[in-house]
Amino acid sequence: MIKFEQVSKTYPGGQQALRQVSFHIPPGEMAFLTGHSGAGKSTLLKLISIMERPTVGRVLINGHDLGKIKNRQVPYIRRDIGMIFQSHQLLMDKTAFDNVALPLVIEGYSRRDITRKVHAALDLVGLADKINSLPITLSGGEQQRVGIARAIVNKPPILLADEPTGNLDPKLSMEIINLFEKLNQAGVSVLIATHDLGLIARMRYRTLTLRNGQMITDGLVEDWRGDS
Ligand code: ADP
Ligand code: ADP
Repeated sequence: MIKFEQVSKTYPGGQQALRQVSFHIPPGEMAFLTGHSGAGKSTLLKLISIMERPTVGRVLINGHDLGKIKNRQVPYIRRDIGMIFQSHQLLMDKTAFDNVALPLVIEGYSRRDITRKVHAALDLVGLADKINSLPITLSGGEQQRVGIARAIVNKPPILLADEPTGNLDPKLSMEIINLFEKLNQAGVSVLIATHDLGLIARMRYRTLTLRNGQMITDGLVEDWRGDS
């Protein structure tokens, strides 16, 4: 489902962000991606979401070689990928409903389908009762869950999260991770970039570790001795 083959990425300024990175995340797997700031985590996620292109090597998503797709195919491939960010990037003057509905409105779904899907997504993240709330009236954890509802409202088979718990305390962080587990159990592939090693240690998931753009470990936390 997500496959990197000897992928290197050098930015136009000459900064080498990834060096010969290879891994495969099969459908339905949940994994963490970690490493120090500047290690290349965001770059790796941007290659999957086609916000950046590899300099060398191949990135395959659902069998599509991202180096070979045409620009006009990009939106179709991106539709399979839900993205969650540290700052949830909600529209602050719109209700939870309108924020979650946004991707569906863009895709031209009927009002009826939008209502049904937004209810289902907010239900899934435990915010059915906040559907008409403005983000400003919600807690940090609730805002993050609205962001997650928006990312999954289309039921993408792949979910990418970039420091999704960065602004949250340990208890709320666990709630968010438990939500990812729930989605994963429903069949979604989940890749979570985080430098929260405490969080990783508490979970038993495959963990990919980057250092200076190189993949230095790939395995379960119990097999893994981090360098930080
Ligand atoms: P992380 O997410 O692990 O902090 P990044 O992928 O953001 O790491 O960055 C990896 C390296 O690539 C860093 O040295 C960073 O400065 C560099 N980098 C990231 N984005 C860009 C960019 N758009 N242009 C130039 N260099 C970049
Ligand atoms: P559909 O549009 O396929 O008929 P809905 O969007 O109405 O389905 O959602 C049906 C069920 O799937 C709901 O119970 C909802 O909680 C659950 N669901 C919604 N989004 C996701 C998702 N991304 N992954 C797994 N289950 C989801």
